[in-house]
Amino acid sequence: MDIVVKNLTKTYGPQKAVDDISFIVRTGEVLGFLGPNGAGKTTTMKAITTYLIPNQGNVWVGDSSIYEDAEEIKRHIGYLPESNPLYEDMPVIDYLRYVAELQGIDKSKIKSSILNMVDLCGLEGEKHKTISELSKGYKQRVGLAQALIHDPDVLILDEPTAGLDPNQIVEIRELIKKIGKEKTVILSSHILAEVEATCDRILIINDGKIVADGTAEELRKKAQGKEILKIIIEDADRNLAFDQLQQLDTVDVVDLIQGDDQAFEVQSKKDQSSKRAIFKLCVEKGWTLTEMCPVETRLEDIFRELTMN
Ligand code: ATP
Repeated sequence: MDIVVKNLTKTYGPQKAVDDISFIVRTGEVLGFLGPNGAGKTTTMKAITTYLIPNQGNVWVGDSSIYEDAEEIKRHIGYLPESNPLYEDMPVIDYLRYVAELQGIDKSKIKSSILNMVDLCGLEGEKHKTISELSKGYKQRVGLAQALIHDPDVLILDEPTAGLDPNQIVEIRELIKKIGKEKTVILSSHILAEVEATCDRILIINDGKIVADGTAEELRKKAQGKEILKIIIEDADRNLAFDQLQQLDTVDVVDLIQGDDQAFEVQSKKDQSSKRAIFKLCVEKGWTLTEMCPVETRLEDIFRELTMN
C-alpha cells in the first residue's frame, strides 16, 4: 500500500512545522526519515496517521485520503509514536489483548496474534509483568508489538530503537527490514548508521522542507564534488603538517585521525582537488607521503552539510 504525501503544510501559530512537502513511499520500501530536532518529522508522521489535520495538502494511504477516509487509514496503519504511550498499569499480555480487540482482530485469532507478537518482539520472559515494571527497551518492544499486532500494511515508527541496547537494536533493525519487504514502512531516527542499515531510501528534512531524497548511494553521489582524502605523512611534525595542509588553497578542512599520529583527513573545497598540492607540499618540506586515498563521503557529513543553517 503506497503512501502519497502531496504539498503538506502544517503550521503552529506563526511557525511552519512542515512546509509544502511532497513524497511517495511504495509498498516494500523502508523509508528513513532524518532531520535535526524540530525539523518536522513527527508532524509529518502524525499527518500520515491522521493524528492531526494539516493546513494544506493531502495524504493518501492506498486510495484513502486523510480527509475522507481517516478510519479506513487507521485500520491499515501500525503506529509507534515517539513517546510510546502505554497503559502502564496493565500487564503486557492484557495490554496486547486490549489493543488486539481495539484493532478489531477476529476473536478466534486474538490469542495467536498475541503469542505471535510476544515471539516476534522477544517478550516471552516479560509477558506477565506489569508494563510499569519493564525496562525502557522492553517498553519499546511492547510499543512495537502494539503497532504490529493487526498485521498492518503500513508501519509508521517514530524513533523505534530509542532506549534499546545494542543487541536489541540489531534485532529490531532486522525485524523492520524483514517486515519492510512486504509492507510500507516509514521510520524516523537520529542514528544515521541505523537509517543506512535499515532503510532503502532516505529523506532528509530540515526546517519543514525536504532537502534530500534518495538512497544512501545517491545522496553520496550528489554530495560528491567535495573530495575527502586520507593521507599519511611520515617524518613530519604533526602540528606543522596540520597547519601547512590547512593553508593550501584548495583545502577546506583538515582533521587529525585519532590513534594514528601521521594520518590526516583532508577535505577539499567544492569541485577542487588537493592531491597535487599535498604531494608538492610534502616534496617541498622533505616529508614522506606514504598514503593518499579517497574517503567515501559519510552520511554524517551529508547530513551536516544539508541541515546546518
Ligand atoms: P525531534 O527530532 O526533536 O522529535 P521533529 O523533526 O519530530 O523533531 P516536530 O515534532 O515535527 O519535529 O516539530 C516541528 C516543529 O513544530 C518544532 O519547532 C516544534 O516545536 C513544533 N511543534 C510540534 N508540535 C507542536 C505543537 N503541538 N504546538 C506547537 N508547536 C509544535
